[in-house]
Amino acid sequence: MKDLIIIGSGPAGVSAALTAKRRNLDFLWFGNKNLSPKVELAHRIDNYPGLTRVTGLEMNHIFKEQIKTEKLEVIGKMINQIMKMGDHFMVSAGSDVYEAKTIVLASGVIMGKFMDGEKELAGKGVSYCATCDGMFYREKEIAVVCENKEFEEEVLFLANIAKKVYLFVNYETTLQKENIEIHKEKPYKVEGENKATGIVYKEKGTNEDVLVDIDGIFVLRDSINPNTLLKGLEMDEGHIIVDRTQATSVEGVYAAGDCTGRPYQYAKAVGEGNVAIYGVTQYLAGLE
Ligand code: FAD
Repeated sequence: MKDLIIIGSGPAGVSAALTAKRRNLDFLWFGNKNLSPKVELAHRIDNYPGLTRVTGLEMNHIFKEQIKTEKLEVIGKMINQIMKMGDHFMVSAGSDVYEAKTIVLASGVIMGKFMDGEKELAGKGVSYCATCDGMFYREKEIAVVCENKEFEEEVLFLANIAKKVYLFVNYETTLQKENIEIHKEKPYKVEGENKATGIVYKEKGTNEDVLVDIDGIFVLRDSINPNTLLKGLEMDEGHIIVDRTQATSVEGVYAAGDCTGRPYQYAKAVGEGNVAIYGVTQYLAGLE
């Protein structure tokens, strides 16, 4: 069993991983092999000490070089569930399961808005994990909202199971399969009382609502709502509540970066990643 699992590879995750290494913790680190797509978006960064007027691309590149120098590895898998098992945690990435005594959540915030009804129907026809739930939709009709080209492998996996896939993308795609119908419109609502039964988007030009009846919806994006990931995590307006050691409401779980609240800034993310590891080491030593 590992001491720690870090989830997220933006500045908060990078800082946590660098500090965990310095603290000799035995840990696994999950995230995006490209670290943080969000960091790369910054046109110019003027407020990070030590770096003068770098672009987001340059900053992400510097992070990657540092990780290489420190021989750290990001496991490029999306974590879709964390379960507390008494004194430790089981963490799943699709069908792969990992165990650790503590967790640092550094998963960022979801950019843009959730669809209306999405949070309420999470786990009730709305899924964030193709590998975990895909098989429930054999020969069924599903919608897939894919927000990153990197997840297209999962779209194909789902299209090989389902009868029909209504694929909603916000980027250019070359994906082609006879049962995939591609939509560029942005769906804004999930229909359903106790189970998702439809997805709604506005038709371009007329701006009229179009309802697509479906058996299930998969949402594939860079981040998952933290309390979908871990049941019982206390949140405040979409942010994880933490104390001064970055401890969350779930014993053994720490959080850092944008996921704990504003300001959404690199310096805050990096500082919190560092403090979270301090919290983890105190907890492992039985001092908290
Ligand atoms: P993120 O950078 O969002 O990283 C989270 C990472 O975790 C992502 O790679 C994601 O894929 C991964 N992840 C999430 N969930 C999971 C999961 N379940 N399993 C595995 N991996 C997961 N800040 C400044 O200080 N100065 C600026 O000039 C500035 N400019 C900006 C410009 C733009 C256009 C944007 C969008 C942001 C800017 N920011 C700036 C804000 C800054 O980018 C964020 O505050 C910072 O990236 C937050 O870091 P983070 O580590 O908390 O999260």
